[in-house]
Amino acid sequence: MRALTLVADRKLSLVDAPEPAAPAAGEVQIRVRAVALNHIDVWGFRGMAFAKRKLPLVVGAEAAGEIAAIGPQVEGFAEGDPVVMYGALTCGTCPACREGRDNLCENVGGVMGFHVDGFAREVVNLPARLVVPVPAGIALRDAACAPIAYATVEHMLFDNARLTAGETVLVHAGGSGIGTAAIQLAKSLGCTVITTVGDEEKGLKAKALGADHVINYRNDRFEHVVRKLTAKKGVDVVFEHVGADTFSGSLLSLKRGGRLVTCGATSGPTVTLNLMQLFQQQYRIFGSFGASLRNIRDALGKMAAGLKPVIDTEVALSDFGRGLERLESRRVFGKVIVTF
Ligand SMILES: [Zn+2]
Repeated sequence: MRALTLVADRKLSLVDAPEPAAPAAGEVQIRVRAVALNHIDVWGFRGMAFAKRKLPLVVGAEAAGEIAAIGPQVEGFAEGDPVVMYGALTCGTCPACREGRDNLCENVGGVMGFHVDGFAREVVNLPARLVVPVPAGIALRDAACAPIAYATVEHMLFDNARLTAGETVLVHAGGSGIGTAAIQLAKSLGCTVITTVGDEEKGLKAKALGADHVINYRNDRFEHVVRKLTAKKGVDVVFEHVGADTFSGSLLSLKRGGRLVTCGATSGPTVTLNLMQLFQQQYRIFGSFGASLRNIRDALGKMAAGLKPVIDTEVALSDFGRGLERLESRRVFGKVIVTF
């Protein structure tokens, strides 16, 4: 079978790998059909000083496929069923796992495609407990955006920031995969969405997606525009993933008692924080990483009800590198999908 492996930093190789053995007890075998790219793939591709891993490594953290075989002691799956896969090897037995807080697993074996072999291969065996059925009527390339992009946004906005109907949210980088998801999920709840983009074309697309206000951060200081748009009050929630370039402005965009939730640092991880501002303004700041299986099921449920992920580009497995380049370039609007 074909498997796309990272052989050195910034060097991908499509290799012929042996097919996995028949699935063991508790496992299913999945024929992978679509892998969705995320910024974690860019970090992995570039090489990260803190990531403990061995190369070569099969890439791909977020994917959808079909059940190809079922191991002993597995119930609830049939051959051919469409499924998505959880993006990390959780233990399934620690208190966090048992309580459904999967992304707080105490014994996590690593993130797929980043620390351990991922999904950019034709066939993979996985514990059935990490496999989520896809409801009827969802294309696999759309379902592939559920386990990380949409589920992460669900976890950020609803579990962490507790966004409620009628609130105002600032979504950074509205053209990114998670930015488009955040606009859609916040709008579907009945929130007012302000978003930032880097060019006018993306601004038009963000508006078409439902954003109420679009700020081109190359032309205007976004925090000034946010204060104008909110009559100097600030927003209830800031959806952060840009980091160094925006974090201070994000805090200045919050109303007193507002919530900031962050899952990324694409422009750099180090910021300064004014503690006087933090406690006087009573800000609440949430770090968010990954999602629970419940978040994935919720995202798929919304897709079944009509939510359609924004797909920027679809590339073949052999063009995975071109997909990553597009993600790195910031020209992207929505998700980059690799199909098999
Ligand atoms: Zn666990």
